Amino acid sequence: MMKTRPSWLTKKAADQKSFLKMEKLLKDLALNTVCGEADCPNIGECFQKKTATFMILGKTCTRNCGFCAVSKGIPEAIKTEEAVSVAIAVNKLNLRHVVITSVTRDDLQDGGAQHFVDTINEIRKCNKNVTIEVLIPDFKGNKKSIQKVIDAEPEIINHNLETVPVLYSEIRSGASYTRSLGLLKQVKESNKKIITKTGMMLGLGERREEVLEVMDDLRKIDCDVLTLGQYLKPTEGHIDVEEYISPERFSVYKEIALKKGFKFVESGPFVRSSYQAVNIIEGMF
Ligand code: SF4
Ligand code: SF4
Repeated sequence: MMKTRPSWLTKKAADQKSFLKMEKLLKDLALNTVCGEADCPNIGECFQKKTATFMILGKTCTRNCGFCAVSKGIPEAIKTEEAVSVAIAVNKLNLRHVVITSVTRDDLQDGGAQHFVDTINEIRKCNKNVTIEVLIPDFKGNKKSIQKVIDAEPEIINHNLETVPVLYSEIRSGASYTRSLGLLKQVKESNKKIITKTGMMLGLGERREEVLEVMDDLRKIDCDVLTLGQYLKPTEGHIDVEEYISPERFSVYKEIALKKGFKFVESGPFVRSSYQAVNIIEGMF
């Protein structure tokens, strides 16, 4: 197994000017992005295209996934003004599509669902044309919380499975594969108009057949969109990369997924859950 980072995993340096401009706007509005918090390798490219994934509900997570660079610990109090600040940023950046995500807030009774709803509503108030994607935590499987978000009718509800079920205890402790599938199923059963989306990181030791089985499970619940990307170890303290998946294998996975009936698939070494999310909207609306 190859452990040295291969040549296809080098990214062009960010354009400093647009990067700094975007950073200033986020700082002025006291907003967090998952782009910065999770050390996303696409940050230069996305900021240049005025795309960002806003991270609400603070920047400290109550879970401790072995792959994730987001801070863990005791979370901050919810800032109610954050919903308005996100709406202002969406307007200032003149976004066509916005992605909102959060840390997992197991400390809150509704897991932060109402704050997602408030943010969606504030964005809609200021801008009727922007399409909204929420990348939500599992809300500990709380159906009422999930339903609140469904009833706010974002165009896309995204919830990442992250990996194959056999690796959950090591990689995604605190989560459950069936619970996550149940969330995506609830969305589709409640409102067929909402696009359901999920993502996985590859290179964590999963086998090909296991990836294909996950695809089948997702198609059984009519999941529309799949993203597949390479796991990259953010720091020494995080779990190791087991394998670097070649761009050709990512392409094969894409072909297979499309044959299985997904409506849209992004698959490649640098693909992240929100990477090129606007393409989905342009391809599906
Ligand atoms: Fe990171 Fe999400 Fe896991 Fe929290 S629940 S540690 S934000 S992947
Ligand atoms: Fe941010 Fe997503 Fe782009 Fe990464 S891929 S920089 S998380 S918008």
